[in-house]
Amino acid sequence: MRLLIVGNGPGGVELAKQLSDEYEVTIIEQENLPYYTKPLLNHYIAGTVKKEKLFPYSLEWYENKGIELRLGTKAEVIDRARKKLITSAGKLPYDLLVIYAIGDCAEYNGIICGTAKGAMGHARVLANLIRDEEDRYAFEFRSTVFKFGDFPIAIIGETKGNGNWLDNKTKVFLKEGKVVGAVIIKDVKRALELERKIKSRVSIDEL
Ligand SMILES: Cc1cc2nc3c(=O)[nH]c(=O)nc-3n(C[C@H](O)[C@H](O)[C@H](O)COP(=O)(O)OP(=O)(O)OC[C@H]3O[C@@H](n4cnc5c(N)ncnc54)[C@H](O)[C@@H]3O)c2cc1C
Repeated sequence: MRLLIVGNGPGGVELAKQLSDEYEVTIIEQENLPYYTKPLLNHYIAGTVKKEKLFPYSLEWYENKGIELRLGTKAEVIDRARKKLITSAGKLPYDLLVIYAIGDCAEYNGIICGTAKGAMGHARVLANLIRDEEDRYAFEFRSTVFKFGDFPIAIIGETKGNGNWLDNKTKVFLKEGKVVGAVIIKDVKRALELERKIKSRVSIDEL
């Protein structure tokens, strides 16, 4: 059985890893670059991360796993009747086509999680569903620290709406009287503690 995956990001690669023993897997990717770890991009540009870390999967890795990787190939049209994907590099036949991996699809309650971990979690669930095993994506609590240059920001839980400033570095978001999310600017040391409290559904006075 031929499994054709569109997208060579964390979602696509994780799905290919999960199913490469059971399927003849091909990944197509519109970019010419092999897989790179996007969260490390700014660190690489800043010179604090080596090239090998940025590119964790070599072309040999794909070969050894039996995964065919076609770079510089853009998915354009699906010909469902003939089970062919029309790409910028010609038609590719498939038995099973996954276009889910084309980017940041991990959504829960209207929030696009936008994390590599979420994309991989989704891919693992998808692999089980393809195997006809029952599975469901259990939303992993959103808790991310992003760094813009030297300026860190932590985003925790649900952060919809205007929120309330706790102090000049921390904004919290409420739902039915409970704190459901927070954004911390600069001083992200208290992110873990805040995450724990938000998970246990405290009110603003209990923070
Ligand atoms: C600079 C930067 C920093 C980040 N930092 C973090 C971080 O600190 N922590 C974190 O968890 N996440 C971070 N992210 C987000 C994380 O990288 C994404 O959530 C993750 O890459 C999503 O994985 P994915 O497989 O769903 O999609 P992607 O990684 O976007 O992969 C989708 C692939 O599909 C390809 N594609 C799309 N359309 C087509 C088509 N028609 N034909 C062929 N190929 C196609 C794209 O070229 C792309 O390579 C960061 C992202 C960026 C850009």
